[in-house]
Amino acid sequence: MSPTMPKNGSSLRASIPSVDRLLQADALREAAERHGRALVVESAREVLDEVRGTIGTGAGTDAGAVEVPALAARIAAHAETAAAPSLKPVFNLTGTVLHTNLGRASLAPEAVEAVVEAAARPSTLEYDVGRAGRGDRDAHVEDLLRRLTGAEAATAVNNNAAAVLIVLSTLARGREVPVSRGELVEIGGSFRMPDVMAEAGCILREVGTTNRTHLSDFSAAIGEETALAMKVHASNYAIQGFTAEAPEAELAALCRERGIPFAVDLGSGALVALERHGLAHETTVRETLAAGADLVTFSGDKLLGGPQAGLIVGRSDLIARIKANPLKRALRLDKMTLAALSATLALYLDPDRIAARLPTLRHLTRPPDEIAALCAALAPAVQDAVGPAFEVETAPCLGQIGSGALPVASVPSHAVAIRPAAARGGGTALRRLAAAFAALPVPVIGRIADGALMLDLRCLDDAEAFRAQLAGLAIGDEPAG
Ligand SMILES: *Cc1c(COP(=O)(O)O)cnc(C)c1O
Repeated sequence: MSPTMPKNGSSLRASIPSVDRLLQADALREAAERHGRALVVESAREVLDEVRGTIGTGAGTDAGAVEVPALAARIAAHAETAAAPSLKPVFNLTGTVLHTNLGRASLAPEAVEAVVEAAARPSTLEYDVGRAGRGDRDAHVEDLLRRLTGAEAATAVNNNAAAVLIVLSTLARGREVPVSRGELVEIGGSFRMPDVMAEAGCILREVGTTNRTHLSDFSAAIGEETALAMKVHASNYAIQGFTAEAPEAELAALCRERGIPFAVDLGSGALVALERHGLAHETTVRETLAAGADLVTFSGDKLLGGPQAGLIVGRSDLIARIKANPLKRALRLDKMTLAALSATLALYLDPDRIAARLPTLRHLTRPPDEIAALCAALAPAVQDAVGPAFEVETAPCLGQIGSGALPVASVPSHAVAIRPAAARGGGTALRRLAAAFAALPVPVIGRIADGALMLDLRCLDDAEAFRAQLAGLAIGDEPAG
């Protein structure tokens, strides 16, 4: 029989200590010291409400659970959780370098430093020191973008979705925009080209078919009501087989002939030739402009390797109209992002060293041999941490760039593969294993594939920090449900 005899609901309720009494407990004095009294009082009320709610429901509330030490510990943990930042660093060992859910590009040290400076002190954000008067915040990136892409003019907004929205809203509100049926993309569920068109108040004019769109389809669709023609980069899919698309240069020429702008949503938007670094070719912004695009939009935190931003480059008369749209104020970049973006773009002025200096490109171009050696060096420590119920080996695997760059190209990589030793209950064991890695102080996020938890070490920079926390790995051992 348990030392705390079961009581009935009303006597349990009556024995719940008061908030004042709980606040005297050592655990809560300490919690108040750390997080302030207000949060602890609020946590106490919330926990007591929870406890009252479970009494009599058979949820396991017994007399022990309403005693001061148990309640105080629970309230302290509640306050701790509320005060802890939920945005915290992780190890991205998924094998996807630009992982949208894990924050896409990591910034170069130069960009991080610029963010810290901009955040901590007043700056020339919209101040022209030479004229001692108001300046334009785009000035911090426009010259760099012109130099790096060959564009006449440039502006920057919150992300590429915003860039597409403001382009359409400025140039095509209430009018038609022909887009190939093969390019009506959805990116990550929340960005769907037809919805963005509707939001921008323009009329989507679908041309061609899913697999084949010809220049003549555009030619037939362009009329009095056409505001501009648009091409959307197939970021996260590929149409293969019997396919055709209107070549950019020909589409650009057609638009010029008909007197309408030609806009390209490039998505990732590489600024350098990736094949120079051993990756597959991804159309660069400069190439797209050179092919005749009047406007190109792309993301700051995909292949570019900078902060979340949407860049719009192209004809200066069109950029001027976009900048005058009231939406620009709503979608503008903040000073920290501008600082990071400008520092990142500055690194591109030296293309010979960009792959070493920019984490995104450094990770993408990391030699598989080097990753394999890192796996071999860390595998024994991982085996020690997971114990004999799992088998650890190193294995070649395929990673991805992610975030809609070269969707069908995979990057050969290497992983520490952790497999349950027993075939029975393997799925449950794997999920528990993944949960244990995710519960470490710096969560380790891998990928479950082929009956193993794969830790692709391509993006692991701090191997010692990874190794150091392995001792704390706690794999749950409750029986499979
Ligand atoms: C990624 C992408 C977007 C959205 O860009 P965000 O910067 O995530 O807003 C839009 N269009 C294309 C083609 C993309 O690849």
